[in-house]
Order: sequence, then C-alpha cells, then structure tokens
Amino acid sequence: MSNYIRFQLSENDIPKFWYNINADMPVPLAPVLNPQTLKPITPDFLSVLFPMSIIQQEVSTERYIEIPKEVREVYKLWRPTPVLRARRLEKALDTPAHIYYKHEGVSPTGSHKPNTAVAQAFYNKIEGTKALTTETGAGQWGSALAFAGGFFGLNVEVYMVRVSYIQKPYRRILMESYGATVYPSPTEHTEYGRSMLAKDPNNPGSLGIAISEAVEVAAKSGGTKKYSLGSVLTHVLTHQTVIGEEALKQMDLAGEYPDVVIGCAGGGSNFGGLAYPFLRHNLQDGMKTRLLAVEPTASPSMTRGEYTFDYGDTARMTPVVKMYTLGHDFIPAPIHAGGLRYHGMAPSISALLDAGYLEAIAVPQLDTFKSALLFARNEGTIPAPESAHAIHAAINEALDAKEKGEKRVILFNLSGHGHFDLSSYEAYMSGQLENYEYPAEAIQDSISRLPQVNL
Ligand SMILES: *Cc1c(COP(=O)(O)O)cnc(C)c1O
Repeated sequence: MSNYIRFQLSENDIPKFWYNINADMPVPLAPVLNPQTLKPITPDFLSVLFPMSIIQQEVSTERYIEIPKEVREVYKLWRPTPVLRARRLEKALDTPAHIYYKHEGVSPTGSHKPNTAVAQAFYNKIEGTKALTTETGAGQWGSALAFAGGFFGLNVEVYMVRVSYIQKPYRRILMESYGATVYPSPTEHTEYGRSMLAKDPNNPGSLGIAISEAVEVAAKSGGTKKYSLGSVLTHVLTHQTVIGEEALKQMDLAGEYPDVVIGCAGGGSNFGGLAYPFLRHNLQDGMKTRLLAVEPTASPSMTRGEYTFDYGDTARMTPVVKMYTLGHDFIPAPIHAGGLRYHGMAPSISALLDAGYLEAIAVPQLDTFKSALLFARNEGTIPAPESAHAIHAAINEALDAKEKGEKRVILFNLSGHGHFDLSSYEAYMSGQLENYEYPAEAIQDSISRLPQVNL
C-alpha cells in the first residue's frame, strides 16, 4: 500500500475500449418497446432520433467497443481523471476505512457528462447530422453537449427546464459561451410545448416536458437534427465506463481493491460507468465488491418505485423500457440535486438491482449537504449536490467500518464539482433547505398510469 494521495495515470492510459455490460448481463434485458404500439421497437423508429452507430451500440453484445481516436483526442483535455485518497476525511471520521474517490469534476464542464457527450457528438458528425437537440434540467448535460457539439462543428439546441433557465443563469451562459442555443421549456416551438403553455402560460417546465420538446424537434427535422440523451440508455452507460476502467488501474497503483464502490444515481450513468468494470470482475473473477447506488428520498425510483415498463418522458414519445420507475408523470420535489430528479433508472441497472447484483439506498437532502461540507472542509473540493449523495453514503460506510472495527476499502465517484450550485449551499447554510419524502399515495397514483404491456 502506498503513501500517496493522488493516483494519476498518463495520457497513454486513457482506455482504448469502452466496456459493454450487455456482453455479460447475468439476467436477460427486457425488449425496448415502441411507445405507440407497445411492441418491440424497430431500428427505423430509433433512426429518426439517433445515428446508426449509436443504435448499434445500444443493442450490441460485443464486450469491448473501441473508442474512436478522435474521441480519445478530446478526452486528453481532462482524462485520465485522478483517483484521490481522502486521508483528511478518514482522519476527521477517525475511521479505519480507506476512502478513495474518482474525481470526474475536473472535466471542462465540471462533471462526468462530457465522457458521453463527446462520443455522441463524434458519431453524429461522421453520419452527417447538422444539429443536436437535447433537454437539460440544472444544466450539466446541456453544457456538456454544448461543449462537445461545438468541438465537432454541430449546432446544439438545448431545451432547458424553465425554472432553471430563470433561476440558474450561469449554466445557460456557459452553454451559450460554447455556441449553443438555449430555450426555456416549455416553448412555443413545438406542438407539445404549445399544448403545455395553452393549459398554463406560467408552466415552470420539467425534465419530462423538455425531453418531449427536444425529441419532437429532432423527429420533425427530416433527418438534419438528431436527439441526444445524457443518461439512462445503454450506450451512455457504456461511454461512461472509462471512469471504472481507469479506476481499476488506479486502485492497482494504490495497492488496494475496493470492498464497496459507490455512485449517486439519477439515470444511472456515472454509477454504471464506475461500477460496471468492477462488476465484470465480480462476475468473471469471483471478486465480491459491493456496488452501491445512492438516490435521493425525494426521487426514490430504485428503493420505492416499481420494476416495470414505462415511458422515458411525460409526453409518451420516447421508447418504453423495463426499469425501476415512479411513473412517467411523476413530479419530483424541488431538491437541489437536479440531476437526480428523474422518474426512472437505466434498464441495465434496474435488471441487475432486481437480480441482486447491485444495492441501492435513498438518502435525505439535508444529510447530503452536511456530508458535502465535511468533505469540502477536509478535501477542498465543493461537490455537486448530486455527488454529495455518494459522499454521504461513503461516510456512512466508513462510520459503519469504524463501529465494526473493520478496515474497509471504499471507492466513490465524485461525479462533479459544485461551483455552479453555490446558491444551494447558501440555502443550506442559512437553514432554508428541507428534506422531502416522496409520498406513498403519489407513487401509487402515478404508477396507476403506467402503460399496460402484453408481450
Ligand atoms: C447528471 C449528473 C448526475 C446524475 O446522472 P447519472 O446519469 O445518474 O450519472 C450525477 N452527478 C452529476 C454531477 C451530474 O451532472
């Protein structure tokens, strides 16, 4: 075991392949369904929205997918990201546990999301797409795609949830700085947006509505515009496995192997990206690393949702997938971890959780901010409110190890920094934040409107 704090790889260690969990799924994945017919989807439905190479990756069962050299060139701007050992935090907790974290907040836009944005922009570019449409909540995904699209000469149109557009101008300005066009959703540009505004001209918007608008614009563009999604789908999780592949090498440099790997989970991409390469070793080499996904109590899809077929968006335009879901018309409480306010979970994570290969817990908002400040004051980095969920779980693991007198090796993903989220820290420190439990009746109510699938 080494005395280092920072486990850094060189440019040559940027992975040359992504790991595709489809190759090793120990349980079968349910088919993806057409939202109109509720029958298995055909590639031509998907090809309206995505380029062919992305669709092929979505269904591929090849274990390793080569990362194009153009994508690796852009990755070099911030990858490999460091793994750090949180020695000061360990000391503050007085724990025998060793706490490591993978720092994805060092990317140009401050989160793990550019790992897939760059790949998606590249594949669209080589297949002749002119513009990409997407949605964004707090703005992490929109800024990643704005950055990546700009690098490959694509126009990027971002449908940003209206409340965030108004309340969080800095991420909008970041997107515009990269050359993207940002609209407050719902807009007058789409049929769905107009129908929402007709009902309520002050509609604050939601991620589900913004997805529906971005999908509609791409679907009606005659092929010039494609849609891009920042989480949930298999190809997105595949692109994110650069995180776990690097972390495997870095834990090797540290001379340790994690007993538990932790990530926060909104749609599941940063968690899957870190955890899946470790899951491969569990499945192939008999390792026994626990893989723990952490979600907010305000949006508890894995811990309180149902594992069943549901739409990905409010307007029911996106494919129907089998996943842990709170129902497609679920409206999350306004917690500050905007990236974790999604009603569903990646199908592969859902299937693996259902079969017992992964674990999931939900944690309340106030605890996550308390742990975030403890982390910041010991390790220096202000985490994104989403990442604070993983930090809180890591701290709980370290305290549990202390109670049991165990040396436990913990690795979590610091999915992003919190420099654009300082207003949420201000709200926490001035006592204005609250905890939210999603009410059981509300879950039952929205689950009663799930699609009835008969395969
Ligand atoms: C978007 C985001 C998340 C949640 O998305 P996943 O797909 O679940 O990873 C987590 N952390 C940060 C910093 C994000 O921007």
